[in-house]
Amino acid sequence: MPQRSRTKVWVLFVLFLLLAVVGSVSYLGWRQTVPGVQAVSTPPRFLGQKTPFTLSLEARRGNVTRVEVRVVQSGTSTTVAKQESPLGRRVEIPLVVESGALGLREGNATLEVWARDDFWRPLRRADRAIAGYPITIDLTPPKIELLAATRYLSPGGTGLVAFRVTGAARTDVSAGPLVFPSFAYGPEDRGARVALIALPWDFDPAVPLAIRSSDEAGNAAARGVPAEIRPRKFPRDTIEIKDAFLQAKVPELLPQRPASEPLPDGFLIINRDLRRQAEETKRKVGASTANKPLWQGPFIQPRNSKVFANFAELRTYVYAGREIDRQVHFGYDLASTRQSPVPAANKGVVVFAEPLTIYGNTVVIDHGLGLQTLYAHLSSTAVKVGDAVEKGQEIARTGSTGLAIGDHLHYEVLVNGVSVTPLEWWDGKWIRDHIGKPLKEAGLPEIAGAEARDGEPAPATPARPQRSRRAR
Ligand SMILES: [Zn+2]
Repeated sequence: MPQRSRTKVWVLFVLFLLLAVVGSVSYLGWRQTVPGVQAVSTPPRFLGQKTPFTLSLEARRGNVTRVEVRVVQSGTSTTVAKQESPLGRRVEIPLVVESGALGLREGNATLEVWARDDFWRPLRRADRAIAGYPITIDLTPPKIELLAATRYLSPGGTGLVAFRVTGAARTDVSAGPLVFPSFAYGPEDRGARVALIALPWDFDPAVPLAIRSSDEAGNAAARGVPAEIRPRKFPRDTIEIKDAFLQAKVPELLPQRPASEPLPDGFLIINRDLRRQAEETKRKVGASTANKPLWQGPFIQPRNSKVFANFAELRTYVYAGREIDRQVHFGYDLASTRQSPVPAANKGVVVFAEPLTIYGNTVVIDHGLGLQTLYAHLSSTAVKVGDAVEKGQEIARTGSTGLAIGDHLHYEVLVNGVSVTPLEWWDGKWIRDHIGKPLKEAGLPEIAGAEARDGEPAPATPARPQRSRRAR
């Protein structure tokens, strides 16, 4: 081999070696600098008696192999949870920290997350916390003191609960699965809260009523509300569905419906699905409420109007001599002349003004503390969302939009979206005895026009207005 060629080979070989060394060194350097496991979720700010949370971790390369969660409090480190063996690249670890059982004390602490991956690095890293979070340990549950409550309640009726709570972040009053928000009420230094509660028309008297509180740390407390549930009977009615009614209403309420579909099938979609949608909307609208009472004194009904259907009437729908459906009617049907003025039943703020499935053109007025009134089947409306209205102010005209036979007002009273009988709120004496009285017993400011009077006999269920000739 000539001298020049041999030199060339050597140069190439050395160059190759150099490249290999440089490559290996930078490769090893890269492996060393790959970051370790990272926390991708933030733990809660508070730990209570028992606090569940999920810790999410991610390894940049390789898998998470070891995780330890510690709480460090005045120099003492307590292991709260530990997991080993390859856990995957991204892991979600559900944890339940039982602070009391672990011997943690109330006060400030640091929650540390220690974690390691199985990615090979030339120099093994020392174990260290990958994240530290300042936390507060709170082991004291909220304290609830019942001040007063409406004593006599009925299915389809309203009640008031007044209480004091300390150390709580959230407090509500529950009636079985139904939950009613509570509102700070009266002088601030008393720390009192009130909640209006509604019992649905089919309320089971065995279902407990309870004030429920929880704090930031998840510590919970509950207190039962004693009440005497007095039964209430609701009427029944049969409604005959005629073809002319279906021809008029089905296309209006189901514009997308295929023309080939039989009208009674369309009616059932309206009476079931659209009715359920409206119920859901009522619950949602119920959350838009003022944190203080806006109403004053008894609620009013349109002048010269007659009752054509009652609250919680169980309706059987008959078509061509056959029962096709059953539904409950959640309001009062009031009628006088066509397109007659609809007054606001009390002072409040308009929170809904648009078509609402079977209800047609609808207005909902909020009266505060979750109490609202609903006006349906309107031919026209004179208010918009956000308008403040006075008691008796004309807000709309009656009509027959939605699932209505003939011109009338469908009127409902709602508490946090749950329909209750309007009878109670039309009755000044009922309001004084069932809303004013517990406020007075609790030593809280009374609502204008609803002051409880002394020495009145025990409350009786208000009389039901006489039902007029049939129609709806
Ligand atoms: Zn109605």
